[in-house]
Amino acid sequence: MLNEFVHGRLGFGAAKRIIPNIKRLISVARSLNIPILYICDSHEQGDYELTVWGPHAMKGTKEAEVIEELKPEKQDIIIEKRTYSGFYKTTLEDKLRELNIDTLILTGVHTHICVQHTAADAFFRGFQIIIPTDCVAAISEDAHESSLKYMEQMYKVILKSSEELILELKGAKN
Ligand code: ZN
Repeated sequence: MLNEFVHGRLGFGAAKRIIPNIKRLISVARSLNIPILYICDSHEQGDYELTVWGPHAMKGTKEAEVIEELKPEKQDIIIEKRTYSGFYKTTLEDKLRELNIDTLILTGVHTHICVQHTAADAFFRGFQIIIPTDCVAAISEDAHESSLKYMEQMYKVILKSSEELILELKGAKN
C-alpha cells in the first residue's frame, strides 16, 4: 500500500476503499503480537517490470513510501522488492523462517498481480495463506474476483472477510 498505488499515478478507488479494513486488521495483529511485514515495491532503473508499467515506486521517492494511513511502526519489518513477488530476490523467506511463521495473511494491491505472485511463491515454499477479501483490491473487479478464485484453487488460499478473520484471531488467543 504505497503512495504510488493508492494516491499516485497508478492509484485507484478500490485501493482507497480497503484502507480502513487493513488498518483495523493491522491494529488487531499488533495487539496480538502478530508480526507485520510490509512488502514494498522499490524500483531501480533497469528493472524489467518497468517495461510494462513505466517508472513507478522508484526507490527513495515519496511514491515508494507506505501511505500515511498505514504507516509502519518501529517493530514492523520492511522488505523491498523489485518485481511482483515479495519473495523474488528478497529476504522475506529468511525473515519468515526466523520468526517461525507457517501461515501468511496477505493484504494490499493488486489482487491479481503482486498479491497473487506472492501467494504463488508462498505456496511453493509451503506456507499456508489466508486472504481477507476486503483487504485486497485490483483495478478491475473481474481481475480481482478471478484471481481470488484462482488462488483458492491453486494455492489453497483461505478466503474470508476481515471481520471474520479478526474474530478468529482474537478467539485463538483466548
Ligand atoms: Zn512494481
